[in-house]
Amino acid sequence: MFKLKEKLLLSDKGYSDLKKAIAACTITNLSLMLPFGITIQIFAELLKPLMGEELSWARMWIYFGLGLVAALLVFLANKNDYKKTYVASYMESEANRIRVAEHIRKLPMSFFNSRNLSELTTNIMGDCATEEHVLSHIIPQLLANGISIAVICLALAIFDWRLALTVFCTVPLAFLIIVISRKITDRLSEKHVDSKLEASDQVQEYLEGIKVIKSCGLAGAKFSTLDNAIKHMKNMSMKLEFVGGVLVTGAQIVVQSGIGLTVFVGTYLLTAGEIRLIPLLMFFLIVVRIYGPVLTELTLLPELLYMQVATARMRTLVSTPVMEGNSERKIRDFNITLQNVSFSYTGKLSKEETVIRDLNLSIPPNSITALVGPSGSGKSTLSKLIARFWDVNKGTVKIGGIDVKTLEPEHLMSYISFVFQDVVLFNDTVYNNIRIGNMDATREQVLAAARAACCDEFALSMPEGYETLLGENGSTLSGGERQRISIARALLKNAPIVLLDEATASLDPENEVLIQQAISRLIEGKTVIVIAHRLRTIAGAGKIIVMDKGRAVEEGTHEELMRKKGLYERLYTIQQDSLGWSV
Ligand code: ADP
Repeated sequence: MFKLKEKLLLSDKGYSDLKKAIAACTITNLSLMLPFGITIQIFAELLKPLMGEELSWARMWIYFGLGLVAALLVFLANKNDYKKTYVASYMESEANRIRVAEHIRKLPMSFFNSRNLSELTTNIMGDCATEEHVLSHIIPQLLANGISIAVICLALAIFDWRLALTVFCTVPLAFLIIVISRKITDRLSEKHVDSKLEASDQVQEYLEGIKVIKSCGLAGAKFSTLDNAIKHMKNMSMKLEFVGGVLVTGAQIVVQSGIGLTVFVGTYLLTAGEIRLIPLLMFFLIVVRIYGPVLTELTLLPELLYMQVATARMRTLVSTPVMEGNSERKIRDFNITLQNVSFSYTGKLSKEETVIRDLNLSIPPNSITALVGPSGSGKSTLSKLIARFWDVNKGTVKIGGIDVKTLEPEHLMSYISFVFQDVVLFNDTVYNNIRIGNMDATREQVLAAARAACCDEFALSMPEGYETLLGENGSTLSGGERQRISIARALLKNAPIVLLDEATASLDPENEVLIQQAISRLIEGKTVIVIAHRLRTIAGAGKIIVMDKGRAVEEGTHEELMRKKGLYERLYTIQQDSLGWSV
């Protein structure tokens, strides 16, 4: 049905529910005609004395009785309609939100590189709410009204086709106005949606950066950007409302001009003796009522067209292919090799420069390999390629001889622990934040991992120990404490490969010692790749790979590289001289 299923991203159940909702709405619409038909009958009965006939009270009582039955039927139809339309659509949009969130989880990182957070949030929350509105308040009513109009039109045509034609001849004209002006309204709708997005972006940036804004005295400048975005959104909303209002009102006037036309044609037919007075009067009564569904259609249709534009992003999101691969294949050996790998970031936010160039590497299993090199040389990128956050443009990345491109990302991730610099913490307890590492772990295992990662020191001094809530992104914790939580997660996960991005920011000596302790417990017997910024960690590395501009320029042990007197030796000497180089 008009590809509704694909367009509204409906599940099979959602689609069948929608069909039931349309049927229920049609029944309600038609049931509303019952009291109206009875009123007309009463009216005709009351007019009988005028025509020299006798008014029958017996019949009048029957009509009153029928009126009561009709009221009951309308109530039942409405009740059924409510259940079928609203309850079903809220259930479907709940499923839809979960589906979109699941889909996002499986999307390649390139997708996120071209979208910022507020756009994604708007997608899940806003667009799903829009879809919900379409499902509950627009589609069923729109189609049900369409069906009702067709049924009524047919019934009138049987009664008198000339008058029926007069009543409905203005309707196509009115819809033509809406359809022809679609280009203008679509363009306006797009601008309106963009302005809303820009405003929510600015609000988010303003709130997130409030500390920096205050401390750097940027309040004026940042506020005016936000102010402008909000003003622009207001202007676009007003413009859209105005143009939409003019078009819908125009179309409604065109439809209603049908009343005058019907009076004119009806009177003409009456004087020509083609129709009798009573049926004509009844027709006039019907005409006033009959335009109800048509006028509703004229307000719903532009809304539907707007929704179509507003949810375009969500459709793009859902139709973006996810990263796929084998989720059964076991990796048994953990040596990692890169062959002729080239890579550049794609997406709206990147410059598309080649970040990794023709790289050939071998990382031995069960030992520590350090990646060093100037900032921007591609160390983090390399670790992300190994974990298949991105797919390489050329060449292959293999773990234990298996191309990571052939593995399902979540399956691959079960073999890898990441300890990033920027630790993401959730608005939950310390305990639950650690348990994320392995949701199947027992309480003892979680606490053991926490202890091994030296979390006891700070967690037990908190008001409710491990059950203390962390607040949004753990804003109450220090950098070192956050890192220890992330190490505890990794310990709990106990994956055979550990990718470690050593902290660049200097920590206080106590934290530093505790983190080193925690890390040494984490990496025991694992295949470890450490992005090293300081020399201390490198001391234990079996292999050091020196990166420069996306290439591995040197590799070997510390002693070998020092003897070579190349880039490593230079960087090492500079750092020793404390000139701020990080290797
Ligand atoms: P390193 O870890 O050695 O400091 P990175 O791997 O982080 O280097 O970055 C290498 C290059 O890739 C840099 O020029 C950086 O600007 C770019 N880059 C890193 N991440 C992204 C990204 N998500 N999108 C676009 N470019 C990126």
